Amino acid sequence: MRIDLPTLYLLAMLTSVFNGLMLLFSWLQNRAATTLAWWGGAILVLVCGGILVALRGVVPDPLSIVVGNGLWLASYGMMWCAARVFEGRRPRLLEAAAGAIVWAFLCQNEIFYGSQVLRICVFSAIISVYSLLIPAEYWHSQDPQPASRWIAIALSLLQALFYALRIPFAEQFVFPVPPDDVNMFVPVWVTALCLHIAGMSFLAMVMVKERLELQLRRTTLIDPLTGIANRRAFFDRGGRTLSRLSIDRAPAALLMIDLDFFKRINDTYGHDAGDRVLCAFGTCTTALLRPSDLFARTGGEEFACLLPNTDMTDALETAERIRRRFASQTDATEFSRNGPTVSVGVATTTSCGYQLDTLMAAADRALYAAKANGRNRVEGSLDDRQSVAPPIAPSQEDASGLQRAAGIAAQSS
Ligand code: GH3
Ligand code: MG
Ligand code: MG
Repeated sequence: MRIDLPTLYLLAMLTSVFNGLMLLFSWLQNRAATTLAWWGGAILVLVCGGILVALRGVVPDPLSIVVGNGLWLASYGMMWCAARVFEGRRPRLLEAAAGAIVWAFLCQNEIFYGSQVLRICVFSAIISVYSLLIPAEYWHSQDPQPASRWIAIALSLLQALFYALRIPFAEQFVFPVPPDDVNMFVPVWVTALCLHIAGMSFLAMVMVKERLELQLRRTTLIDPLTGIANRRAFFDRGGRTLSRLSIDRAPAALLMIDLDFFKRINDTYGHDAGDRVLCAFGTCTTALLRPSDLFARTGGEEFACLLPNTDMTDALETAERIRRRFASQTDATEFSRNGPTVSVGVATTTSCGYQLDTLMAAADRALYAAKANGRNRVEGSLDDRQSVAPPIAPSQEDASGLQRAAGIAAQSS
């Protein structure tokens, strides 16, 4: 196959310019996504460098060799900055320019400047290093999502490998490219580079879009104070979980939790302290639940837990564990006097069915009973009394709380 190199260069340049401009345009539409500006700028700088390199023999050699390759190397430093910025880190300008600076410095040496093979080796090594720094940034992400960054990691590693492998084949890349059909190294390399740029541009936009969507989802489904699910998320996911469980008639339990005398905590210690208590309760309870459990803040100082595959006995035990852990945790804090506690009402699908509203209403009634019976306690739903066996024997430590919690259920059996 005969490949016309100038045509290939032109195509690669135009495609890359288009990609770079597209990224800059996307950045103009969303100025907060500075990673797009870095990617777009990097690609345009790479194109400028590429044009100067491709014009070897047409433009003065220093312009092609020193400036062209220098710009090319600087563009990879900019891509690394793009990855840093995406991960919320500051761009490191000096390190980003270091590759180009080293290059310009080495070009002052006659042996280096005069040897194309040596130059190709150093050039490829520098790009390999930057190509490894990019996935390192994505790897140490503060935010495990978006998932598309794994593709960016793979692509960058592939690029690092590609440039590293170019080193032993450096002689195949020397200018001028032999005008025969045998030397496929350069055309393949230019095509791969072009595809890589297109792939990274596309990925940069997908990653930004994915992160925006995640942020949007978080703001609509996550409670900003405690970081757990909000009421909307609870109804949304809870309803779906219950209809899934209803297919196999698998049991589920709902805990309605309300902080006791919370107004008094606000009044005594201030609203900020009240906020800290809400956060502490969120953290403490999350640690006690399974990943499959749904835990949400459904109101000011009201929380709900949906526990799939859980019967009344286990639900009472979980509720009691939450109550006890929270009370003991806050005992040792600034709230040692009148430490915050919770009351919990528990209902299960066994007696209430799989409608979330019905289940919540039953758990709410049990919560009222817990409040009426003195607070800082767990009560099972009245609806569950007929259908439930006494809880399993509690451990020594659990005894008092669990007995209280299971009181209603035990009385009825
Ligand atoms: P009970 O034991 O009967 O539940 O009494 P309570 O004081 O907890 O209940 P009440 O409904 O009288 O008061 C709830 C308080 O919760 C009043 C409100 O100011 C406070 N609250 C609601 N949301 C927040 C919040 O986001 N932060 C803080 N600090 N307080 C909140
Ligand atoms: Mg309340
Ligand atoms: Mg309350």
